[in-house]
Order: sequence, then structure tokens, then C-alpha cells
Amino acid sequence: MFSIAIDGPAAAGKTSTAKCVAKKLGFFYIDTGAMYRAVALYFADNNIDFTNHEQIKEALLKINIKHKMRDANAVMFLNDEKIENRIRSFEIAEAASKVSTMYFVRRFLLDFQRNLAKKHNVVMEGRDITSVVLPDADMKIFLTAKVKERAKRRSADYKNLGKTNIVFSKVLRDIMIRDIRDTKRRFSPLKQTEDAIIIDNTKYDLEYIANFIVTLADVNFKGEKDFDSKKKLSL
Ligand code: C5P
Repeated sequence: MFSIAIDGPAAAGKTSTAKCVAKKLGFFYIDTGAMYRAVALYFADNNIDFTNHEQIKEALLKINIKHKMRDANAVMFLNDEKIENRIRSFEIAEAASKVSTMYFVRRFLLDFQRNLAKKHNVVMEGRDITSVVLPDADMKIFLTAKVKERAKRRSADYKNLGKTNIVFSKVLRDIMIRDIRDTKRRFSPLKQTEDAIIIDNTKYDLEYIANFIVTLADVNFKGEKDFDSKKKLSL
């Protein structure tokens, strides 16, 4: 199986880039952030106390997450409920950021994520994919962009979801706090691994970056493995 691991800070464009690369290569796209969002949603729906370890462990036993593919899109199910829209709110983003600092939650999702990569060719994105989940990934990318640009993109996402009341300064502040939380947390912090290719996409569009990654994948795998890609090379 081939695995492309993509990490990077919030709103760096990981989701759209990973989806686009997966589609071009005919790989599975895996959104690990959505899994943390699913856990956060369950905790919110069931009033789980974030400071109570026993409650957290008990709650995790009742969570069944399914990650289904629909036309190169990942669709999340939580205990058989389709939750794609509910996990995209500002509140769940905030809760997911907190939930993702918890050891038991990370441990709970780790095997699930690794098993997906054992069964399928994947483009998996998150914060700890290059460092913890798939340390032996065939290719590693650290995707980033300047913080103001990331806040602009996240604001546009919220507007597209009809949330016009969230001001830019709040989005910017939230992203800066999340950057600190992601990089400074005790378990699986976001970091650039030495073997990752660092891509700053502040000034580049999605298609350009996706084609660049597909080209790199081709260079990495050509002749070594049975690499069957549907890619278009435009670089
Ligand atoms: O990428 P997304 O915003 O959907 O991620 C939701 C939260 O889950 C983030 O705040 C991030 O801290 C966390 N996360 C993580 N490890 C991953 C993916 C996401 O800690 N592999």
C-alpha cells in the first residue's frame, strides 16, 4: 500500500489539497481531524466532563466511528449518524482542539487510523500523521501558510457555511491559539519531521500544489512499486 502523510497547522489547506491529490491518484482520502471532531461532538451531545478521565474512557467505549468514501470525499458517521455538517461548526472545532490534547482520545483513534492505511492507498491528513500515525509513510508533506492567509481562508469557509456573524479578528485569534495548542501539547504535538517536504502555499493555488505533490509522488515511486496513477502532470 502507498501512503502519503500530510500535516500542517489549522486552515493551511490540508483538507482540500489532500482530497485533490487523492482524487488525482485514485487513493483514499482520510481526514483525521474529522475523527477528533466526531469525538468532540459525542462528548458535547453527552455532556462529558473534559476533566473526568473515567467518564472520558467510558464514553470512548460507546463511540463507533465509520469513515466512508463517497467520490473521493470522506463522510463521517458517528454511531450510524451522518455527522458531516454538525462537525464543521465553530464550537465543535474549538471542542475538537481540546479533545485532541487528551491521551486516551489519541490512543483510541491511533489504531483506527493506522488500519485504514494498512488496507488502502491513502492520502491521510492531520497534525501527527508524519510523526506518530504513519512514521514510515512513503511520502511526507508539511503544508503550511502564513497565519493571516489561513485566517482569511477559514473566514471564507464559515461564510460559505452561512455563518456571517464570525468576525475576522476572532477567527485569527482562534487560529493563533490553536497553533499554540497543537504545537505545545504533551501528546503528539504538531511538528515538522526531518523527512517531510515543507510546502508553504500562501501564494499558490490548490491545483498547483496538488499537481506538485502528485509529481513528487511520481518521482518517489516510479520504478520502485506498482504505482498506477491517474494524474495529470502540469509542472
Ligand atoms: O483539521 P481539523 O481542524 O478538522 O482538526 C480538528 C482538531 O483536531 C484540531 O484542532 C487539531 O488539534 C486536532 N487534530 C489532531 N491530530 C490530528 C488531526 C486533528 O490533534 N491528526
